[in-house]
Amino acid sequence: MDLTIHRGTQEIGGSCVQVTSGGCSILLDAGSPLGDSRTDVDLGKIEFDDVFISHPHQDHFGLIENLGSDKTVHIGETARQLVETTRIFLGKPPLINSFSPLNNRTWVELRPGFRVMPYLMDHSCVDAFGFLIETEGKRLYYSGDFRAHGRRKRAFDWFLNDPPRDIDLLLMEGTMMVRDNTVYADEVAVEQGMLEVLRKHDDRPCFLICSGQHIDRICAAYRACIQTNRIFVIDIYTAFILRTVAIRFPSVPDISTAKNIRVLTKGLTARAHYRKISENRSYFGAFARDIFKPETNIEIDEIMAQQSRYFLKISNFSDLLTDIQHCSVIYSMWSGYLEEQKYRDIKQNPKVNFLEIHTSGHAIRNDLQRFAAKLKPKHLVPVHTDKAKDYENFFENVLVLQDGETLHI
Ligand SMILES: [Zn+2]
Repeated sequence: MDLTIHRGTQEIGGSCVQVTSGGCSILLDAGSPLGDSRTDVDLGKIEFDDVFISHPHQDHFGLIENLGSDKTVHIGETARQLVETTRIFLGKPPLINSFSPLNNRTWVELRPGFRVMPYLMDHSCVDAFGFLIETEGKRLYYSGDFRAHGRRKRAFDWFLNDPPRDIDLLLMEGTMMVRDNTVYADEVAVEQGMLEVLRKHDDRPCFLICSGQHIDRICAAYRACIQTNRIFVIDIYTAFILRTVAIRFPSVPDISTAKNIRVLTKGLTARAHYRKISENRSYFGAFARDIFKPETNIEIDEIMAQQSRYFLKISNFSDLLTDIQHCSVIYSMWSGYLEEQKYRDIKQNPKVNFLEIHTSGHAIRNDLQRFAAKLKPKHLVPVHTDKAKDYENFFENVLVLQDGETLHI
């Protein structure tokens, strides 16, 4: 089997790995870079058959929109729905690929003697998988993005208890090789942190800045609301993401069944979001009506009349700050995004009590070491990292590749 990392040997994000055996070739992820990339990847210049997407983050799937309908994209079913939904809200046309859903620990047979098994992992989004690739009597494992400190950390434990055996080569992410995760060690600590802010500053509204698709984080905020008897206000986009995920994971709150949750249906981004729903009625189904039910719907006047009752996860809330005396803002994303002007402005606003409460979506180094120790690969190749050279200080049998270099296994 031949392995080529088209992008990812020296950077975090934009991952694209190719595995070829006999007449069959697959891509493991086809991601857009997160920032300036040192490597251009043009899928039009690569010959391959199927694509396996480890999870629904842009830096792992972003390039599939350039593919035609002749390519099969293997991806988790909920992950696919989230990708489609995001495209609708961004005003992008639907994807034309044919999709095949991944099922945890179920082989995908590509050709006789060439197969792939997905392993469900814990990460900062749903439907995150690692992949075992087996062909020509060799076994390669691609870690995708994973961690051991989220709400699905049991997935990590299950993996360690019953890992794939006889691994010839492990491609392992190393986002956190030299980063720390010390203040909030896990998602439980994040929820506790939110809870403390809501309790301590119970005289003011609190806003949340996080990804609408980070379900662990949204659920933490929701539970913090339940415990402090606040109303969790979300925008239309977030409400639909919750509905999509709640269909498969009933512990996730849905606007029609969960208490203490309301949808902002007027003002800020509501009009733009609702326009997308109107244009895609059949896609959104009953959701288009559910958001306007009196027990679900909320408007800005109601929020302003009793501000301290609310914990709000809504886009573009800065416009509201003019009419608010003081508030808390919980920033719950990677600190690198704080460089963006819109977040700087919020942080510097004297009315804002700005708090960073976040834990990484990626495994800390100690968990990477536990992971690698269990798999005992003959070779360990760094990917999705900007610290490839540091691997040899912490792991055995490290083999550093360059983007575009092909290794025969
Ligand atoms: Zn990711």
